[in-house]
Amino acid sequence: MNDETLKPCPHCGGEVSITEYGEDSEDYTGWMIICSTCDTMMSQDSEMFTKNEYDLISKWNKRSAKKK
Ligand SMILES: [Zn+2]
Repeated sequence: MNDETLKPCPHCGGEVSITEYGEDSEDYTGWMIICSTCDTMMSQDSEMFTKNEYDLISKWNKRSAKKK
């Protein structure tokens, strides 16, 4: 996939996955990371200044590293 590895969920330590949403609309597409255990999510939409999925992943990883 890519060289950015997703860290586990900062809240529950569960496994997270990244998925693309809004595939039908060009105005509203983006990526989101969601925890399959507790439904914590982070999307490009909520993090307005993320440029792409790699940016989102690195933001997620930073958040994950902060809460330990
Ligand atoms: Zn979680």
